[in-house]
Amino acid sequence: MIANPSILHAEPTMLAHWIGGRLVAGTSGRHSDVYNPSEGKVCAHLPLASEDEVDAAVQSAKAALPAWAATTPLRRARIMFKFKDLLEQNANQIAAIISREHGKVLSDAHGELQRGIEVVEFACGAPQLLKTEFAENVGGGIDSYSLRQPVGVCAGITPFNFPSMVPLWMFPMAIVCGNTYVLKPSERDPSTALFLAELFKQAGLPDGVLNVVNGDKTAVDALLSHTDVKAIAFVGSTPIASYVYTTGTAHGKRVQAFGGAKNHMVVMPDADAEMAADALLGAAYGSAGERCMAISVAVFVGDKIADDVIARVRRKIAGMKVGTSTTAGAEMGPLINGPHRDKVKGYIDSGVDQGAQLLVDGREFSVAGAENGYFVGPTLFDHANTDMKIYQEEIFGPVLTCMRVPTFDAAVKLINDHQYGNGTAIFTRDGDTARAFAHGIEVGMVGINVPIPVPVAYHSFGGWKASIFGDHAMYGPDSIRFYTRLKTITQRWPSGIRAGAEFVMPTNK
Ligand code: NAD
Repeated sequence: MIANPSILHAEPTMLAHWIGGRLVAGTSGRHSDVYNPSEGKVCAHLPLASEDEVDAAVQSAKAALPAWAATTPLRRARIMFKFKDLLEQNANQIAAIISREHGKVLSDAHGELQRGIEVVEFACGAPQLLKTEFAENVGGGIDSYSLRQPVGVCAGITPFNFPSMVPLWMFPMAIVCGNTYVLKPSERDPSTALFLAELFKQAGLPDGVLNVVNGDKTAVDALLSHTDVKAIAFVGSTPIASYVYTTGTAHGKRVQAFGGAKNHMVVMPDADAEMAADALLGAAYGSAGERCMAISVAVFVGDKIADDVIARVRRKIAGMKVGTSTTAGAEMGPLINGPHRDKVKGYIDSGVDQGAQLLVDGREFSVAGAENGYFVGPTLFDHANTDMKIYQEEIFGPVLTCMRVPTFDAAVKLINDHQYGNGTAIFTRDGDTARAFAHGIEVGMVGINVPIPVPVAYHSFGGWKASIFGDHAMYGPDSIRFYTRLKTITQRWPSGIRAGAEFVMPTNK
């Protein structure tokens, strides 16, 4: 266990950057406030980096690069093993930091950390993962083989909704591949990333290999245009993902940028109604709907199953325990901040105005003893249609919108016509229907009787359409491709050239 990070102190403290293996105070003169959403109170102040401070972080990563890239994958992996151990040993403390700044309940904070740890576990396989291909005798006496070499200094820009998991999707894989890193976490819940960096140092990571620079658009723009940054990973909302992709690639960088989502769950007439209702409850309201893989639209094929499942969901909502992030047994906490709470309430207003049937209204919800927390209660709409804002846009709150369609084909068309394509699910007992769905749906991650089909760490994570900009998915095998450059070598040794110059293609011999 290591010393308590400052975020767990009672009074708001000024946080810092993590550059060159130590905390470095901000010098830009700009800062923002970090809130505890359960209490609606400021819990820390955050320095917002200037261009010069971003440059200091990049230079630290650049200086550390040659030695780290030359470190054997086996030694890099050994540090990963220790990092994984430390993450597990400090899990309670990490979860407490996540909950305090994000507002998600402790059990959920543990859940996201576990998914992040699984990526570190995958990264421990670097010596095997970085093995490449060799072909003997591609021509007479000529062999060909490929190498996967580090890209250089890489940067990650992360959203507020998974303060440990999304950074852990990025920097462990980059670093185990021999790159050095600058992470720019969300300014709304930055302390987790600082603590992760401290733990990684304790695991034996050399100074400068991982740097954390805190900030806003100024810091992001400085990373996007910095000539020494070679690759950028981004996760956040679609407009910013599009901007990061366009700007980063215009500056010659490799970019993967993941955006927003509107995930549909199809419920077929033959589905197990109780199983579907339970799945909807957890997938729509877990983490207060602030998950890129949350189910925000339920699509019922036929009125009979719709009436049955919706009645069950209503009953289950009445039994849900909503509380502060540390309330024992709470299943759902507050939203991230006041403006976001108001935005979500605005969406509920618009659903009512546009004629959807509001079955459960979370707008006036409050938690006894935490009246200043940013709560919106679980909200349920029925009879929505495609013209409504609550259907078209990502709400990112505890709002489940139900739609009714007559056929399976109509459900598929609805999903394929939507701008987003992150995740989706189908609930059915029929293998043929499930198979047709998996084959024909234009969405990157598909669940069959699994509501939130986030791939495990040894697959890769990625959506389609407006949910992704760039070619590579995150973590898993795709991350090896993203964080390495392919080099292919064709070799012949001196005995092959004793005959003098050659004028035909070697493969013709
Ligand atoms: P956001 O886009 O507001 O912020 C993400 C990052 O971009 C932050 O680090 C922020 O500082 C930075 N940023 C914000 N505005 C910027 C600007 N104008 N210029 C440059 N940088 C800017 O997203 P958020 O609200 O933190 O996160 C929620 C969003 O992330 C949702 O849309 C959610 O669906 C999405 N998300 C997607 C995935 C996925 O895998 N597709 C995963 C998690 C979250």
